[in-house]
Amino acid sequence: MAFEGLADRLQSTVKKMTGKGKVSEQDVKEMTREVRLALLEADVNFKVVKDFVKRIKERAVGAEVMDSLTPGQQVIKIVKEELTDLMGGEQSKIAVSERPPTVIMMVGLQGAGKTTTSGKLANHLRKKHNRKPLLVAADVYRPAAIDQLQTVGKQLDIPVFSKGTEANPVDIANEAILHAKEEHLDYVIIDTAGRLHVDEHLMDELGQIKNNLTPDEIFLVVDAMTGQDAVNVAESFDDQLDLSGVVLTKLDGDTRGGAALSIKAVTQKPIKFAGMGEKLDELEAFHPERMASRILGMGDVLSLIEKAQDNVDETKAKELEQKMRSATFTFDDFLEQMEQVKSMGPMEDLLGMIPGANKMKGLKNVQFDDKQIVHVEAIVKSMTKAERQDPSLMNASRKKRIAKGSGRPVSEVNRLLKQFEEMKKMMKQMSGTQGGKKGKRKKG
Ligand code: GDP
Repeated sequence: MAFEGLADRLQSTVKKMTGKGKVSEQDVKEMTREVRLALLEADVNFKVVKDFVKRIKERAVGAEVMDSLTPGQQVIKIVKEELTDLMGGEQSKIAVSERPPTVIMMVGLQGAGKTTTSGKLANHLRKKHNRKPLLVAADVYRPAAIDQLQTVGKQLDIPVFSKGTEANPVDIANEAILHAKEEHLDYVIIDTAGRLHVDEHLMDELGQIKNNLTPDEIFLVVDAMTGQDAVNVAESFDDQLDLSGVVLTKLDGDTRGGAALSIKAVTQKPIKFAGMGEKLDELEAFHPERMASRILGMGDVLSLIEKAQDNVDETKAKELEQKMRSATFTFDDFLEQMEQVKSMGPMEDLLGMIPGANKMKGLKNVQFDDKQIVHVEAIVKSMTKAERQDPSLMNASRKKRIAKGSGRPVSEVNRLLKQFEEMKKMMKQMSGTQGGKKGKRKKG
């Protein structure tokens, strides 16, 4: 999970406060000391930490805690509010121009994930906002960058405007906007050139594009894993271009969180999106409150529901539920259900969104092995259609064949069959009791 290290430390600090009937100044002092260390260890900007801790301290020894009936809870609430604030408070939305197309300029250093994110953003706008985007290849120095954007466009089936490496980026962008108008496309996403380091020439070129196009948004793409370097890069780009927002990439691999927690405070520019993986649908709108909640182990039910809505086909889910109730659930249904859960992302991330899941005995420290799901799938897929419908057909030679086909031991095939039977039994019981209760309900 993103921010794992920080989350672990903050959660153990906060846990000590939970249920406290009285909060002394000494308690607050100890807590803020631990919060301070946790943030510094997470590579949060030194000054940001200092201000943050000062605010918590002031509020925690104030009346809102001292007069509260549940002071421990109150302190935790303060930490959550301040953490939310630190990351930008309200979720910030993407611009919509009154005169389409809306122009978004993507800037950033090479390798930060600019091209990938341009594609992800186009995909997001189409999928979530029903928009028609155009991707524009304006990195004229690297033919490979143009090819990469074209590949991304092809994968997503989103048009890419390119004029090769000979044209000037300002002309390319202007022509792309005209093209978008003609084609009634409503977002133009310009993938600009990147460099290994911030340099004057690059900034001049980006400045020219900005002055010529007056884009509706200028998004800086930075790699979250580079911590304070990302914050420094954001500061430099913001000084030169006056950014409208930041996209933090590779948050999926960022166990610390220093960039996410410092960028808004240092640049005053909001994080608009977070990249959560290499795949083109792994971009999330950044919600500071939900993120704070996840970091403090309070879960993020809203994101979980959204994920389910995005990935689970509701009609299919209803059908499955029916089958479960009537106990006609087969291995084919089981496979389908697994596909749906899998499309929501790694199990570990999903658990992080369930409030309290991290505290549940048995779940804490369990390493969820997504490979196991792959094994189960391989076993089910090695069954014949008839076997999937009716597992009672299973005999020793069939089991051996399935084990061979899936590359798993027979014992694992046996275990799965047993679990499946138990699951069916349980479903039968559950639907039985529900029906029974209804039948037995007294009149009047
Ligand atoms: P650019 O040079 O800034 O255009 O960077 P690219 O778009 O080529 O991305 C550089 C590398 O980062 C590629 O291998 C991407 O797959 C990877 N990448 C981009 N965004 C993410 C993300 O959110 N998570 C992970 N894990 N990898 C990412």
